[in-house]
Parts: sequence; structure tokens; C-alpha cells
Amino acid sequence: MIEVIEPATEEVLAEVPRAGADDVDAAVSRAREAFPAWRAIAPAERAARLHSLADALAAGQEELARLEARNAGKPICDARGEMDMVAATFRYYAGAPERLLGETIPVAGGQALTVREPLGVVGLIVPWNFPLLIASWKLAPALAAGNTVVLKPAELTPLTALKFEQIAAAAGIPDGVVNVVAGPGSVVGQRLVEHPDVAKIAFTGSTEVGRSIAAAAAQTIKRVTLELGGKSPNLVFGDADLEAAASSAPMAVFGNAGQDCCARSRILVQESVLDQFMSLLEHAVASVRVGDPLQDDTQMGPLISEGRREAVASFVNGDAPIAIRGHAPEGPGYWFPPTVLCPVDPASRLAREEIFGPVAAVIPFSDEEEAIRLANDTIYGLSGSIWTRDGARALRVARAIDTGVLSINSNTSVRVATPFGGFKQSGYGRELGPHALDAYTEVKSIYYATDG
Ligand code: NAD
Repeated sequence: MIEVIEPATEEVLAEVPRAGADDVDAAVSRAREAFPAWRAIAPAERAARLHSLADALAAGQEELARLEARNAGKPICDARGEMDMVAATFRYYAGAPERLLGETIPVAGGQALTVREPLGVVGLIVPWNFPLLIASWKLAPALAAGNTVVLKPAELTPLTALKFEQIAAAAGIPDGVVNVVAGPGSVVGQRLVEHPDVAKIAFTGSTEVGRSIAAAAAQTIKRVTLELGGKSPNLVFGDADLEAAASSAPMAVFGNAGQDCCARSRILVQESVLDQFMSLLEHAVASVRVGDPLQDDTQMGPLISEGRREAVASFVNGDAPIAIRGHAPEGPGYWFPPTVLCPVDPASRLAREEIFGPVAAVIPFSDEEEAIRLANDTIYGLSGSIWTRDGARALRVARAIDTGVLSINSNTSVRVATPFGGFKQSGYGRELGPHALDAYTEVKSIYYATDG
């Protein structure tokens, strides 16, 4: 059995069966059997089933949100927002089965046309930080395109995925189309990656595991999309609305206790306004409410595990330049206070490694050229923000930064309708928006000879 721990109390929340390699084989064979019928279902009918699923997810939103908040230690308000997006993602892709358009291409002697075909059985491997949300970004487009799926949640947070499997069945998704196997990555995840009947792996997780999945998938030439780590920059220029930039900077890195691949954990601030920015930031950090995830006004909960807390603490040791420290509860729970380090040497581990906890590194810069150089001085390229009142600079810098997603005078980067994914070692492929469907279909080109 897997003992599922509640991070805010360190108590056992649930016990669920631990799947092994045999369970993966059985799930893949169920998914394989279900594929021909799900692929052949009329597009409007597949759309209707996905709408029913979106309705059922919306109806179960509060229950799912509470389960996620307790299991992942995230504030209930955030969990409700995530469950809203889960239902919205299914709603958005419910429009896809009837819009999987092809092309006609002029050629000699006949007609060429393209169609989009589903891949078959798709393996979905997701992390613990946004468990059902990230799963929905994969499930919805994969199912809409006519694939069947085997979903592997993280061992620490399997509860909403297992609940989802029941909701999908009750909402009329046929048997075998959605399968969930909860078990260790090195056994269950690896078997999915190696399984010859799995056509593609859609993975979200660490860059380290992403690398090993890409290598293992090469054996069967599996399609792979990878959403990996980040060390995203938040660039604050001297001409920015400093109050807006400073008041929103804390939650852009402390949201989800910093366990967010998009966390703007490197705050790059122009030297001319550094003192002013730091004093505004101090007020903003002091007001972050850290505590019981089930309280409506909590903004930050605990970390996911003791192991994660130890990993985060290893960055905030005696040498770290601690400039601001927020509050965290005492007693049981994997708590860690919001922490801002300043000034951070851009060559140091604090500036280069993904801390994945509530720790921000402030790095001063002198001019636009240096800001761009520092922003790009990382193996990652997922997300980032640019704060300036100069519109031309905002676009110039946005074009120069090598990340998949950017926001100007805002820290939001994830929307159902827009593509999400990384440059460099933050991964490849795009989720969400119209682009996600490309990752769950193959383009087939058909030539029909017409000249006798
Ligand atoms: P992880 O890589 O340790 O695990 C992710 C998933 O992969 C889990 O389900 C795990 O069981 C599974 N896994 C582990 N080893 C495996 C193997 N050998 N074969 C197949 N599957 C395996 O990551 P994590 O600790 O759960 O999540 C944190 C990481 O995820 C961070 O680096 C974060 O940046 C990244 N992340 C990225 C995004 C994004 O969209 N780019 C979103 C959220 C999290």
C-alpha cells in the first residue's frame, strides 16, 4: 500500500494500493482494447462525452479541491482555482474533436490531403505539485484527439487522479479509455516508458527524470513531450510601476510554497531602484499569510515532504545573504518561511539551481543588456516576467529572452487557451491552447490520383 501523508499535519490521510509493473501491463492492454472504438466514435459524440466529464468535474469541484488541498498541502483557494481550470480544460478540448482540421495541397495528377490521426495508447506521467491540474492538461487533449490513456500520478499525491478515474467512468467515458496506475516512478513510470504498446509519453517533472525518459523512450521511438524544471527571471526595470512589481513578486515565487515550475525565483532588479524595491518587497513578504491550507485566507501552505524541506533548507545555510524572512507556523507540518536573499551572486548555486521552495534570489543589474544576459544565463527556459513602462523595451526584451512563456507587467503565464512549455532544458512540446493537439496526433498525408 502507499501511505499518503497530509503535509500540513504529517498524518496519514489515506492508504491506496501500490501498483507494480504487472498493473501497468494490464492498464495498457485495457487502453489498447478500448482504442479502436474511442477513435471511431463520431466527433460530436466524443465532444459530448467530454462536455459531460467537464460538467461532472465542475459538480465535484469542492470535494476535489479539498482532497487536493489536504494531499498537496496547498491553500484551499488555490485548489479551488485549479479545479476550475481542470473543468475549463475539458470544456476547451471538448471543442477539439470537431475541429481537428486537415489541409488540401495542390499537386500534379490528383489531390493531396492531410488528416490528423490519434497516436494510440498514451502514457501520462505527472508530478505532485499541481496533481490533477497538470494531469488535465494532458488528459483532455489526448482524449479529444481519440487516444486512450494510462495516467501515472506522483506517489505522494495519487488521490485526485484516482477520484478522476471514477468521475470519468460515471460521466460516460467508456471502459478502458482512462486508466490510472498509482505507483513508484522507477517501477510504474519506467514500465510505461518502456512498454512497446505505448505510443507516446507526456511527462511533467524534473529535468533529471525527463532526461532519463527521453533516453529510454528512444528504444521504441516513442513520441515524448517534456515539461521540466525552471529558474524563471522576474525583470524589474527602473521605470516600472515598482509598487505593482514588488507587491506581486512574493506570490510569483511563494505561490504553492515555491513548488511551481514557473516560479519567478530570480528577481532581477535595476540597481538604480534596488533599495526602493527591497523596502516595498519587505512589506509585501510580511503580509504573506502562511498556515492551515484549509483556511480560506491562507496564501501559502507547507512544503510537500520532509525531504523537500531538507532540500530547500540546504540552500538557506550560514552563507546565504538572507535579506527578508517571513513567518511560518511551528509544530507538525513541513513548514518553511518565505525567504528573500539579496544580493545573490549570479554564478552561485542560489541563482542557478531550481530550489523548488519559497526562496527568492534578488540579483541586481545595471542596464538592459546585462538584464537580458543574466535572464538567459541558465540551462532553463520556461517562464518569466518583465516590468517596465516602456512598451518598446518590453517587447524588445520579451523577444530576447529564451523562455517559452512570458508576461509583461504581470506574473501570470498559464491560460487554457494559450500554449505553455519550455525552451532549452525546460523541455519540449507545448501543452494547452490549440498547440497541444499537435502533440497527441500524427499528420497523415493522402494522395488520391484523379487523372486517368
Ligand atoms: P520527478 O521528476 O521526481 O517526478 C515526476 C513524475 O515522474 C512522478 O510521477 C514520478 O513518480 C515519475 N518518475 C520518477 N522517476 C521516473 C522514471 N525513472 N521513469 C518514469 N517516471 C518516473 O518530479 P517531482 O519531484 O514530482 O516534481 C518536481 C519537478 O517537476 C520540478 O523540477 C518542477 O520544476 C517540475 N515541474 C515542471 C512543470 C512544467 O510544466 N514544466 C510543472 C510542474 C513541475
